[in-house]
Amino acid sequence: MASCATCGSTILFGATKVGALSFCNAGCQAKGHLLIRAAQISDAEAYGWAQKIHAGRCPRCSGPGPVDTHMSYRVWSAFIVTQWHSRPHIACRACGVKAQLGDIAYSAVLGWWGFPWGLLMTPVQIVRTLAGLASPPKGSEPSAALIQASKLELAAQTSAATPT
Ligand SMILES: [Zn+2]
Ligand SMILES: [Zn+2]
Repeated sequence: MASCATCGSTILFGATKVGALSFCNAGCQAKGHLLIRAAQISDAEAYGWAQKIHAGRCPRCSGPGPVDTHMSYRVWSAFIVTQWHSRPHIACRACGVKAQLGDIAYSAVLGWWGFPWGLLMTPVQIVRTLAGLASPPKGSEPSAALIQASKLELAAQTSAATPT
């Protein structure tokens, strides 16, 4: 199964493919150009940045960390249209849980109303979010997802600094 080149979430259906890379949605695809730069950023540099985020205050509630990537998944449908997204939240556990519970409620209300994808994807997205709730990132060190997000952030900074 493909995983999104930007956010690392597993793509069940409907991947957007660009060359050899797969993306879970248009937002991740838009960040795809950063991946080329991100590949030039060393793991040590990305890890250092991730550690800074991890040890810092929560960007949402300004509460104490640890701050890490919490994944949630949502889906909405309208008749024959169903859209689903993977949503990484860089926040403290409390804010991550709030976002996850919010997306479970969102999907439970708005997910079902499409055939066939709404009926298929609503339980999938809810179960994936529940899995994220049940296995939060370890508090002791930055998760792989946070290190990847750091790499992209560093890549965005260098591309902003050097016009191409
Ligand atoms: Zn993605
Ligand atoms: Zn927070």
